[in-house]
Amino acid sequence: MKTTTLPALPFSPSCSLATIILFGLLSVGAVLAVPAFGFLYGYTWLDWTMFVLLYVVTGLGITIGYHRLMAHRSFDCPDAVKVALMIAGGWALQNTALKWASDHIRHHAHCDGESDPYNAQRGFWYSHCGWLFYNDPRPNEKYASRLRQDRIVMWQQRNYILIVISGFALPFLAGLLFHGWMGGIGCVLLAGVGRIFAVLNSTFCINSICHLWGDQPHGTFDSSRDSWWVSLLTFGEGYHNYHHTHQSDYRNGPYWYNFDPSKWVIFLLSAVGLATSLRTIPRADG
Ligand SMILES: [Zn+2]
Ligand SMILES: [Zn+2]
Repeated sequence: MKTTTLPALPFSPSCSLATIILFGLLSVGAVLAVPAFGFLYGYTWLDWTMFVLLYVVTGLGITIGYHRLMAHRSFDCPDAVKVALMIAGGWALQNTALKWASDHIRHHAHCDGESDPYNAQRGFWYSHCGWLFYNDPRPNEKYASRLRQDRIVMWQQRNYILIVISGFALPFLAGLLFHGWMGGIGCVLLAGVGRIFAVLNSTFCINSICHLWGDQPHGTFDSSRDSWWVSLLTFGEGYHNYHHTHQSDYRNGPYWYNFDPSKWVIFLLSAVGLATSLRTIPRADG
């Protein structure tokens, strides 16, 4: 692991305080309240079903919607599919697609450099989640301008708070409907708070683990690495060295035996006419 001592980024308590409070509450909820409720009251089959369902839906919203569609344009799709992906991604509480994708485009453009928003050269914790708590003064507009042209991205930007609220309301109402008030609280704790914490950390692993540990079969021009086991948690995003080498490929795991459910879903969408213009690097086919 390469470590470099770098000067700290400017810190603005007024801006970062909101992130600290939000993620502090979420972490305390996930680490303390979720297990405490389980110990005292237990979780039902509905709570666990909603947890798994929303983990898959919101995880794919990030990998397919925010990442492969909006940040990399590795395929195209009708507006209705885009809206569904933007709602699913919004439920993951990883900020709007405009912010997420513009940060990510900058990550690829300046990987391992001073302008990389989650520069892994600053160490594991900074790249995993520490970067979130800094007020980054560098303008993102250069990377956001193309995204601003997409009316679905801007629709999500305008309605982001409502989308986030609906992501908590859905498990609460499901639990309420089947098991009353305590059922609603249990379902929103496990399938809302616990699930968001789990999906956040699986996404964070791409920026930390996949830039620190793993193989580099496709190139050593930057710190990106392939990690098959991270792909198990992140619907195929662990093949990060391939992805940095061929950013516009809709597949992150190009070979048939790579575990890349995001690639499979995009392919299935194209098979039924709900995705078009799938981009691939032909010579990478296994
Ligand atoms: Zn990366
Ligand atoms: Zn990417």
